Amino acid sequence: MSQPHVLLLGAPGAGKGTQSERLAEAFDIEHVTTGDALRANKDMDLSHMDTEYDTPRAYMEAGELVPDEVVNEIVKTALEEADGYVLDGYPRNLDQAEYLSDITDLDAVIFLDVSEDELVDRLTGRRVCDDCGANYHVEFNPPETEGVCDKCGGDLIQRDDDTEDTVRERLRVYEENTEPVVEHYRDEGVLVEIDGEDTPDDVFDAVKSAVEDAAN
Ligand code: ADP
Ligand code: ADP
Ligand code: ZN
Repeated sequence: MSQPHVLLLGAPGAGKGTQSERLAEAFDIEHVTTGDALRANKDMDLSHMDTEYDTPRAYMEAGELVPDEVVNEIVKTALEEADGYVLDGYPRNLDQAEYLSDITDLDAVIFLDVSEDELVDRLTGRRVCDDCGANYHVEFNPPETEGVCDKCGGDLIQRDDDTEDTVRERLRVYEENTEPVVEHYRDEGVLVEIDGEDTPDDVFDAVKSAVEDAAN
């Protein structure tokens, strides 16, 4: 097989970003994440489209999904440019899953399973580096010096949408729109389900094995 095509599924806070970063490095593949791509283009003008809000920012701050036509385009371009990839944060509804199946083939579909209470604790305690995007948790994965990135010395901030109210809304949106996507891959018999509540190292061992198995 050439470089693997990996899809990592899981609720907000399940550890997709944490594990994708490690996979990208271990297999020398691209980390394609719609969340980061949208945060880098928060104020993109959508007013020419027939959408509820005029910028990605407005959807993200409300915890709602950014319209499919916007994210589909981002993913198409990113996948065209990647040899192997780990896709994180997409597809988030069945229409996106259908679009994805039209533009690429997947080697492994992995689901990180984490309970709702744990998700809320992880998201409200998450901190990210303002400069390099590295990911921390005030309790589960603290930096050496509070508020400072271990990797680059940048400031650690809390994402606007990691507040308790928005987190609840994102989990609701996940249940309504994205759980059917997980179900879809499970029905197809391709879903590898992993206990996402283990330590990051143990979760990574399981994720890595799943990708290696898919390659054989
Ligand atoms: P996602 O990309 O799925 O939203 P992240 O990878 O950003 O999830 O993880 C959410 C938060 O949980 C982060 O603060 C991260 O440091 C922490 N985290 C990730 N994996 C684990 C784990 N296995 N155990 C405890 N905390 C974790
Ligand atoms: P997390 O995995 O921690 O929930 P992300 O960084 O993946 O967070 O996503 C943050 C926000 O970006 C989402 O709440 C949503 O508004 C938007 N977003 C990201 N990916 C998609 C997608 N595939 N479709 C629609 N909106 C998306
Ligand atoms: Zn940093």
